[in-house]
Amino acid sequence: MAYDFDLYVIGAGSGGVRAARFAAGFGAKVGVAESRYLGGTCVNVGCVPKKLLVYGAHFAEDFEQAAGFGWSLDQAQFDWATLIANKDREINRLNGIYRNLLVNSGVTLHEGHARIVAPHTVEINGERFSAKHILIATGGWPQIPQIPGAEHAISSNEAFFLKTLPKRVLVVGGGYIAVEFAGIFHGLGASTSLLYRGDLFLRGFDGAVRKHLQEELTKRGMDLQFNADIERIDRQADGSLSVTLKDGRKLETDCVFYATGRRPMLDNLGLENTAVKLDQKGFVEVDELYQTAEPSILAIGDVIGRVQLTPVALAEGMAVARRLFKTEQYRLVDYQMIPTAVFSLPNIGTVGLTEEQAREAGHEVQIFESRFRPMKLTLTECQERTLMKLVVDAKTDKVLGCHMVGPEAGEIVQGLAIALKAGATKRDFDETIGVHPTAAEEFVTMRTPVAG
Ligand code: FAD
Ligand code: NDP
Repeated sequence: MAYDFDLYVIGAGSGGVRAARFAAGFGAKVGVAESRYLGGTCVNVGCVPKKLLVYGAHFAEDFEQAAGFGWSLDQAQFDWATLIANKDREINRLNGIYRNLLVNSGVTLHEGHARIVAPHTVEINGERFSAKHILIATGGWPQIPQIPGAEHAISSNEAFFLKTLPKRVLVVGGGYIAVEFAGIFHGLGASTSLLYRGDLFLRGFDGAVRKHLQEELTKRGMDLQFNADIERIDRQADGSLSVTLKDGRKLETDCVFYATGRRPMLDNLGLENTAVKLDQKGFVEVDELYQTAEPSILAIGDVIGRVQLTPVALAEGMAVARRLFKTEQYRLVDYQMIPTAVFSLPNIGTVGLTEEQAREAGHEVQIFESRFRPMKLTLTECQERTLMKLVVDAKTDKVLGCHMVGPEAGEIVQGLAIALKAGATKRDFDETIGVHPTAAEEFVTMRTPVAG
């Protein structure tokens, strides 16, 4: 049967755009539907605008530290509206680039909401198109628990477009988004509290990293409240919010920001017209080839709920394009050793196993740890300390994990990820000459284990 398209991609986000462009490059006839914004979450309400706001927040400490180097500044002023307007301009520019990327690679772009009406048919803007393969790359959406007054809370989607910077912000959650946005609001001058339901935030990260970040944020004056959760939120007559915690305490704030995870975006997608199955958490179930239970339908990215990171969605998109249209180049995506950064202030950078995971997996481990005051701060009043940690297999000498909390941790960990992926041993690290004077050289100069 002749189809309108070889591949029809639903969602022009990180994974969808990558799959569509490469499939078209391999000679396939490709259509893409996008209902909201070209480039998806990462470009519009994720990685990119978030990182711009993190840069903005970082200036607060740069100005403070400049005095130690002889600079004096008049009272620094910050204007939220300028930052948001400049961020919006940059995102608009990126939207245009994404449009060109798709169109120039020969992809047919349909702007509107796509719905699957049959295993090989998609409906968009009242028109139906047939496709040999359909790829679901619809991403995720913030999930706010349905407590009384939840309608007064915002998520990351709205935070990027606030008209003014709230004076007081209560961030709820203990994952990437909560920690990053708490840093943004705090750095830009809002009085910021972070509420997390467990004992310590960033579950799944190395214990030393979690503790170190807790100490650093506390030093900076952020109010961290663990074992705390909200029961209800009430709007006061003056517009402020009264927040009642489950332990009965009441807090006053101007903005409650929930960052409590993301659900798959499956709204009105028409999955009931297919055999596609969902997993226990509601994400689209796929096998290792991103194949759903419906033979003509594949899925990648946040909607499959594996690792919700842009570079992972890109790798999955590439894998699908190759598997369908360039089989000889097909390789499985390797989910081991995925490096990641939390752009908190200071940053976390991490790759490989945490100490806890390594021990649980049965490794006999050696731990190397270094905590130091970064050289740049020695002329300043700032008491921030950097943490670097290596988790090593005592039997094979292989480095199982690298973890860092400190300036540019995200930048530093990318190179370490290549070393770990190549199977580097602690001896390889020891025999690598450092770059001096840098913080990164500490990763190749740690000699004495702190724990075995
Ligand atoms: P998305 O990028 O979400 O794209 C899905 C697209 O599908 C969207 O454009 C949506 O409008 C469209 N769509 C949905 N339904 C339909 C439909 N029925 N019809 C047509 N179109 C539809 N990751 C990192 O690696 N680094 C970071 O620093 C980082 N920061 C983040 C910060 C925030 C605040 C958030 C929310 C996420 C962040 N992420 C980060 C995660 C990253 O954004 C996602 O993992 C990535 O965008 C997933 O890509 P995707 O292709 O699966 O989905
Ligand atoms: P995460 O899954 O990282 O964190 C969710 C947090 O919310 C956890 O601390 C969780 O607690 C808590 N939580 C969940 N449900 C509730 C509830 N009902 N009440 C109170 N707390 C709750 O999700 P995020 O929203 O922070 O981010 C989504 C994903 O986006 C991330 O996992 C990451 O993959 C990606 N991302 C990546 C970034 C980066 O690369 N720098 C930046 C931002 C996002 P508990 O731990 O107890 O379950």
